[in-house]
Amino acid sequence: KESSGRENSVAKIRVVVRKRPLNKKETAKKEDDIITVSNNSLTVHEIKLKVDLTAYMEKHEFCFDAVLGEHVSNDEVYRVTIEPIIPTIFQRTKATCFAYGQTGSGKTFTMKPLPIRALYRDQRLKLWLSYFEIYGGKLYDLLSERKKLCMREDGRQQVCIVGLQEFEVSDIQIVKDYIDKGSASRSTGSTGANEESSRSHAILQLVVKKHVEVKETRRNNNDNNESRGKVVGKISFIDLAGSERGADTTDNDRQTRIEGAEINKSLLALKECIRALDNDQLHIPFRGSKLTEVLRDSFVGNSRTVMISCISPNEGSCEHTLNTLRYADRVT
Ligand code: ADP
Ligand code: MG
Repeated sequence: KESSGRENSVAKIRVVVRKRPLNKKETAKKEDDIITVSNNSLTVHEIKLKVDLTAYMEKHEFCFDAVLGEHVSNDEVYRVTIEPIIPTIFQRTKATCFAYGQTGSGKTFTMKPLPIRALYRDQRLKLWLSYFEIYGGKLYDLLSERKKLCMREDGRQQVCIVGLQEFEVSDIQIVKDYIDKGSASRSTGSTGANEESSRSHAILQLVVKKHVEVKETRRNNNDNNESRGKVVGKISFIDLAGSERGADTTDNDRQTRIEGAEINKSLLALKECIRALDNDQLHIPFRGSKLTEVLRDSFVGNSRTVMISCISPNEGSCEHTLNTLRYADRVT
């Protein structure tokens, strides 16, 4: 396990699965843990019924770059997923880390501490943080009273999100504060916070910039993206909408259906883009969704992508878990 993780450490695309432990509710309901993990593979033990209602077990085996079981800490997740790519973003590389999975599978639990560890000390380089959300195909700044944002591309295929606030971050506490502040302003509808945030993609970006003399900056007269320095590299942490939300397309509520369709579209587009990258295709179908358009400049050129697929271990989640694993399987 240790060695395979290291060998692949700078691979262009890596897919990692993380299984969370059974929670209290599932344990109280005496639900079985149907996932067994061994090295970089896992088996789902699906319980099925025959026509005469006798039960039988169907096994599904999957293999990934790494599979992290329920005893693996967030520290170890960081070491396997992000640590190997941090040096690359200080060397002109764009990196992206996704958390994919059904609501309640551990996406936020996994993603929240990752950016905190990414700080790096170099006097000539500065880190800038921004945090926004894509909800129903629209962009909102999570660090600026949910101000609505729009996206445009400059002539060099660089994505620019007009008005997105960026903050210089120099210590861990500041990063934590921004994550907490932004997470608190994620979409919350009348139905309650968790419910609604599962329908949005949250994107936290750390941009590495080289300090540029003020005089030079004025002369460039550029927009906000480059006004405070030259972009060296970037890493984006994306806490995706709950994968099961993409199936909300038959819901009674019209708004929910529209959001479900948007989520479905973006998760499909994401898969297509990563596959295209993996196959070194020249044409990457970014236009498929807002999510992939926004991340366009992170995919082209020298880039690194890590997909963390989060799964719940309980029997009741079997179908969603299989969907998540099949999605992860087809990404590369
Ligand atoms: P999601 O963001 O995918 O909807 P969360 O990250 O909110 O899911 O996780 C759901 C619940 O499970 C939370 O209470 C979280 O603390 C807990 N949890 C998730 N993953 C783990 C884990 N690996 N170990 C312990 N608790 C976890
Ligand atoms: Mg979440």
